[in-house]
Amino acid sequence: MDTFDYVVIGGGTAGCVLAARLSQDPGVRVLLLEAGQAEPLPAMSNPAAWLGLAGTAVDWAYTTVPQRGVDEAVLPWPRGKVLGGSSGINGMIHVRGDRSSYDAWETAGAAGWNYEALLPFFKRSEQVVGGDPVYRGMEGPMRISRPATIDAFWQACFDAAEEAGHTRNEDNNGAAAEGVSWIDNNVVDGVRQSAADAYLAPAVHRPNLTVVANALARRLRIENGTCHGVDYAIDGQARTAFAAGEVILTAGVIGTPQLLLLSGVGPSQHLREVGLDVVADLPGVGLNLQDHPKSQVAYTARQPLRVSQYSRKPLVLMRSDPAGSPDLQTIFVHLPMRPRFTPAQEEGYSVIFSLMTPASRGTLRLASADPSEAPLIDPRYLAEASDCERMVTGLRRAREIGSASALGPWRDRELLPGPDVPTDAALLAYVRQTLTTYYHPVGTCRIGSDSHSVVDAQLRVRGIANLRVADASVMPSVVSANTNAAVLAIAERAASIVTDELATAAPSGDLVYGGQRGARR
Ligand SMILES: Cc1cc2nc3c(=O)[nH]c(=O)nc-3n(C[C@H](O)[C@H](O)[C@H](O)COP(=O)(O)OP(=O)(O)OC[C@H]3O[C@@H](n4cnc5c(N)ncnc54)[C@H](O)[C@@H]3O)c2cc1C
Repeated sequence: MDTFDYVVIGGGTAGCVLAARLSQDPGVRVLLLEAGQAEPLPAMSNPAAWLGLAGTAVDWAYTTVPQRGVDEAVLPWPRGKVLGGSSGINGMIHVRGDRSSYDAWETAGAAGWNYEALLPFFKRSEQVVGGDPVYRGMEGPMRISRPATIDAFWQACFDAAEEAGHTRNEDNNGAAAEGVSWIDNNVVDGVRQSAADAYLAPAVHRPNLTVVANALARRLRIENGTCHGVDYAIDGQARTAFAAGEVILTAGVIGTPQLLLLSGVGPSQHLREVGLDVVADLPGVGLNLQDHPKSQVAYTARQPLRVSQYSRKPLVLMRSDPAGSPDLQTIFVHLPMRPRFTPAQEEGYSVIFSLMTPASRGTLRLASADPSEAPLIDPRYLAEASDCERMVTGLRRAREIGSASALGPWRDRELLPGPDVPTDAALLAYVRQTLTTYYHPVGTCRIGSDSHSVVDAQLRVRGIANLRVADASVMPSVVSANTNAAVLAIAERAASIVTDELATAAPSGDLVYGGQRGARR
């Protein structure tokens, strides 16, 4: 029988942080379970190869259910299946977004979850050379690169954004996120740095940390309202791990609610529909799924776009409504993107635009009680009219930037949607035809205080002792940025909550585990 103090399920961005931080205490035994493989694929280290990782052995290769808002399209949803999780296959953009999107969590009922409260954990996670020490971390595990090289084309994109009225921002992870700025990357010396590289590699040799890869968690062991461990499988062989302390779910926005549902924790009616016994009726599990929708304006080029792998690239964060909060982001690619990844045939570039604060909410549901069957993913893109309107505004803003004179030396013509598509209705039709995910789903086990929240402000699953969630699924709403930096901060804070609880409880000596010290709430 394998007993640990903490069993961390899911070795992705958050799981690597939790495993590394909790095992810093040599008296605490930590198990990290990961469904994917331990070894990275060679292509994972190459920043230029990240798009090619979709569909490989390190991708769960999920798809959505047909999306009504985008002409019934079924969209691919890559998710990392490897130590490092999605940070091992992602686009390596390191950006926090505007503070308003974190402050919105507290407004929605996540007490104590706002930007100021998360700032120490953003700083704890990162290691940046330069930057304002009030906002930036200098000593964290995740090393941030800011290449000195800037290609002429990316400089022209930056200049085009300024020309279109966006204020120059020296550091989008500093005092303000809005405006046009250069992107920070999770790349070190030209090599991807996943959460496994940054957090797990330095910790993996600790005698009190056990990492088990190729281990699919199938069901939590919950008795009398307390989680005691997890049943998992390696190559079809059943195993069980017990937690003397607690189980921490870091299986991500899909894996975490899926495992809760498979364990009988979720909306009772849905559980019964798929033939599962109800262990706890928690109606919010799998609700509140949200993602950043994106599309692009594509241009053909009049001269070859020579860009290097190592150049910095610009990003623009802006408001669709001057009276609102920042809610649109644009980035640039040196390809004229055609609808849904049809290969580009010409030289060119695209201005990608994405809605950062969508109103549409979807669901994650089980297709069956079989843990190896993919769940039903329904993000309900463009279900809300305000999302449609703001995506059209985003397209118009992208067009302003893409057609600015700074890009004149490169621009041949607007390829898509094309200058003959001027009306809002036609632009929305184009958005529906071309919309894809920006790969940032969150929210399926949100923090809150109402009956549809899944975890409380200490990230404890409602109604079940010794069970926490600490990954992208706890975000009440998606932040106005690519989500990896936010997940790192959430996981850092979760580790701090857990270790603080342990430290506070230890002197009383009320319970001991791990052969050292510890306490249960
Ligand atoms: C293609 C792509 C590009 C992206 N680009 C960027 C970017 O450039 N910048 C950015 O900030 N964000 C980006 N993101 C998003 C970011 O990477 C994620 O938000 C973040 O990694 C989520 O962290 P997580 O810990 O919640 O989940 P994950 O990192 O996905 O980790 C979950 C882990 O749990 C494991 N797991 C799941 N179920 C089980 C189970 N039953 N048993 C055992 N293990 C299980 C998974 O295999 C995985 O390793 C991108 C994501 C993708 C997929």
